Amino acid sequence: MTSLLAPEHVRAIAAYQPGKPIEELAREYGLDAADIIKLASNENPLGCSGRVRDALCQAAASLQGRYPDPNGFDLKADLAAHHRVPADWVTLGNGSNDLLELASLALLDEGTSAVYAQHAFVVYRLSTQARGARHCQVPARDFGHDLPAMLDAIAEDTRLVFIANPNNPTGTHVPPAQIQAFLQAVRDRHGNQVTVLLDEAYDDYLDPEERADSAQWVRQYDNLIVTRTFSKAYGLAGLRVGYALAQPGLTDLLNRVRQPFNVNALAQVAARTALADTDFLAQTYALNRQGRQQLQEAFIALKLDFVPSHTNFVLVHVGDAARINGELLRRGIIVRPVAGDGLPQHLRVSIGLPQENTRFVQALTSILHP
Ligand SMILES: *Cc1c(COP(=O)(O)O)cnc(C)c1O
Repeated sequence: MTSLLAPEHVRAIAAYQPGKPIEELAREYGLDAADIIKLASNENPLGCSGRVRDALCQAAASLQGRYPDPNGFDLKADLAAHHRVPADWVTLGNGSNDLLELASLALLDEGTSAVYAQHAFVVYRLSTQARGARHCQVPARDFGHDLPAMLDAIAEDTRLVFIANPNNPTGTHVPPAQIQAFLQAVRDRHGNQVTVLLDEAYDDYLDPEERADSAQWVRQYDNLIVTRTFSKAYGLAGLRVGYALAQPGLTDLLNRVRQPFNVNALAQVAARTALADTDFLAQTYALNRQGRQQLQEAFIALKLDFVPSHTNFVLVHVGDAARINGELLRRGIIVRPVAGDGLPQHLRVSIGLPQENTRFVQALTSILHP
């Protein structure tokens, strides 16, 4: 077996479990794909904006067989203006997942460690393990990040701390003042020995008063990487584009380990158009707020505990999650089991269109109260 030749730290990895694709469920259960609803991968139920669709059609017609711009000049310029930072503080990624990998490639190897929270985004563990680095998982508090405990968990060999704010799969959010205090404390105790990666994949779903000016923190701390994605609120999950903001020292390290053409030409066009379409973003935000209330009210009516969500999904306690997930699949509804995240009694339900949320709630009700 070739697997036996792989390093021990690679053999120890449990591969990422994606949300089940609609076509796969249709094949497995003999269902019509058109009748299946997927509330499993925190995608935007509106899809992407019409303006993005138009821009993509035009760009597709003029592809000409060339490589994409390896430096993403135009997109970086737009993002730099958006966040009011210099363009050479921006790194583009093939999804923000790419940037998590780049950070761990640039900063970790055997003999180092990364710190992250229990029930935090699973890629932090995966990318740490892939480097052969030690991973230090700090117990969650109320399903969220316990930043004081994470600060204390930083060891001599720690080079990277991952924070998801808001967090996936729990939907929790740490207020900006606590993040700021953490960044300052890491700086005071460890100088720039330890890099903090603040993953803000769900920032666009926060209420305005909950949002932080994280670009300001990047100006203040040269050991901070902030990541964002176009996959969630911007609806570009299928195109794979995200970005990081960091000062030139860290940005230079990320670029050393980056594949030259990691963001394809269509993704660059789509991201520029999406960034400019503020109406679509506002529509997405409003729809999500309404859907979140719909789901959370339904869970209250069903007497199910849930973690109050700051994102476009809700983590709900259902008890026998494996059985209930199976029953939902039979009814053509895909949600996300999270046993692999240490939450065997919960399901993570992405917020869909109102009628999709209704169908999910009706199905769940019929399973719990047959
Ligand atoms: C979805 C997600 C990402 C990555 O998404 P990409 O599609 O790779 O940009 C990163 N972090 C968190 C917490 C996420 O939930």
